[in-house]
Amino acid sequence: MKAHDGIYLDGAWRPALSGEVIDVVDPVDEQVIARVPAAGAEDVDAAVRAARAALPGWAATAPAERAARLSALRDALAARKDEIAETVTAELGAPLAFSQAVHAAVPIAVAGSYADLAARHAFEEKVGNSTVFHEPVGVVAAITPWNYPLHQVVAKVAPALAAGCTVVLKPAEDTPLVAQLFTEAVHDAGVPAGVFNLVTGLGPVAGQALAEHPGVDLVSFTGSTAVGRTIAATAGAAVKKVALELGGKSANVILPSADLAKAVNVGVANVMSNSGQTCSAWTRMLVHRDQYDEAVELARTAAAKYGDRIGPLVNAKQQARVRGYIEKGVAEGARLVAGGAEPPRERGYFVSPTVFADVTPEMTIAQEEIFGPVLSVLRYEDEEDALRIANGTVYGLAGAVWAGDEAEAVAFARRMDTGQVDINGGRFNPLAPFGGYKQSGVGRELGAHGLAEYLQTKSLQF
Ligand code: NAD
Repeated sequence: MKAHDGIYLDGAWRPALSGEVIDVVDPVDEQVIARVPAAGAEDVDAAVRAARAALPGWAATAPAERAARLSALRDALAARKDEIAETVTAELGAPLAFSQAVHAAVPIAVAGSYADLAARHAFEEKVGNSTVFHEPVGVVAAITPWNYPLHQVVAKVAPALAAGCTVVLKPAEDTPLVAQLFTEAVHDAGVPAGVFNLVTGLGPVAGQALAEHPGVDLVSFTGSTAVGRTIAATAGAAVKKVALELGGKSANVILPSADLAKAVNVGVANVMSNSGQTCSAWTRMLVHRDQYDEAVELARTAAAKYGDRIGPLVNAKQQARVRGYIEKGVAEGARLVAGGAEPPRERGYFVSPTVFADVTPEMTIAQEEIFGPVLSVLRYEDEEDALRIANGTVYGLAGAVWAGDEAEAVAFARRMDTGQVDINGGRFNPLAPFGGYKQSGVGRELGAHGLAEYLQTKSLQF
C-alpha cells in the first residue's frame, strides 16, 4: 500500500528525526503492507511548536472561514471514500462493505456536521451586562485508537479546527495509513500550515511525549482505560485539560414486553459488527428468566450466521487477549453456546463469533471489556434486578432497552448510569453527544457538545 515516509509538519511531509519505522500489517494474511515513521520525542516537539506557532492566526480566523475549510475537508474525504474504505480494510481487516458503510461514510458525515456547526455556532453571547466569548482552548493533542480509525480522528480534529484550535494527531500504530490519507485531505482542503500536524509513532514513545508536552493545552484521548488513567494523571499534574473516551461493557436490556427475536438479533449484530472491537458494543444481553432459554437459542442461531462474515481482530495481541477471555469464561463456569477460543482459521487474527449463556454478573466476562466478538447472556429476575445488573460495572458508555411500549423503555433508560441508550433499536445519531458515565470517560464527542470541549469562555462586563 502507498504510504508516506515522513511525518506531516507545518504544512509539509518531512522525514522523522528518529529514523525509526513501524510495520503496518494486514490482519487477514499477516503480511507487512507498508512502513511509516515511528516518530520520537524530538519529532513530537517540532510538531507541537508548529501547532503553537499557527495558533494565533487560526484562532483569529472568522468562523465562516473555518467552516469553509471544514466543508472542503468533507468534500476531499467524500471524493476519496473508496480509497478510505480500501485502506481501512487493508490495515484493520474489516470487510469492505462494512468499511464503506461505516468506516468511510460516518466520518464524512461527522466532518460535514462540523462544517455546519462552525458556521452556525454562537461564538459570542450576551448574558446580562456581560458579553461572553467562546474562545479556542489552544493546542490540542489528539491520541486515537485503531478500532474506528478515521471516525475517531475526525471526531477530534473536526471540532478542534471548528473551535479555532490547532492540532497534533498521534494515530494508533496499527492504523496509520488512513490517518495519512486524512492528512492529505486536510492539506487539499487548504487548512493553513501548522494548524494540523501528524506524527505517526508508538504509544509509549510518541504518544507519551505528546501527552506530556508543556506546549499542549488539551489532551483528547480515546483508547484503553489503563492508558487513559496515566494520561489523566499526567495532565492533572500539569493542570492541563483532558478529554477521555475509554472502554465500555454496555447492557442490552430486553424487557419482557419486547419483541424478543428482534431484540436478540439486533443485539447479536451489534456485538459482532467490527468483530466486536467497538467501545459502545452491547456485550451484556439481559433477559428475563422466563424468556431466557428462548433468547439463548435465538442468539446461538444468530451468531452462527456470522461465521465467515466477520473480519479478524486487529493484531495478534488482541486475538490472544480475546481468546484468553473466552478461556476464562469457560473456567469460571459460563456455558459456551457458539464459537470458542480455537481460532477458526490458520492464518489471520480471527476469532469465531462467540456466545456465552449462564453468565452471572460477577464473572470476569461480565465485568471487563473484551473487545472481540463475544456476547454474554445474563438472566434477570425482575426489573430491579435488571437495573442492578445493568449498572453493576465500572463502565457507563452506552446501552439499549427494548420494550413493547416506548414509554416503558424510556423509564428504564432514565435509570441507567450510562451516556447513551438506544430505544427499541434507535439509529446512530452523529449529532448526539457520545461519551461515558463513570470510568467510561470524561467529556463528550460529536455535535455541539463535542465542539464545546474545544472552547473556553471569556466574559467581558459592561
Ligand atoms: P491503547 O490505549 O494502548 O491505545 C490507544 C492509543 O493510545 C494509541 O494511539 C496508542 O499508541 C496510544 N498510547 C498507548 N500508550 C500510550 C502512552 N503511554 N501514552 C500516550 N499514548 C499512548 O489501546 P490498545 O492497546 O490498542 O487496546 C487495548 C484495549 O483498549 C482494547 O482491548 C480495548 O479494551 C481498549 N480500547 C478501547 C477503545 C475505545 O474506543 N474506547 C479503543 C481501542 C482500545
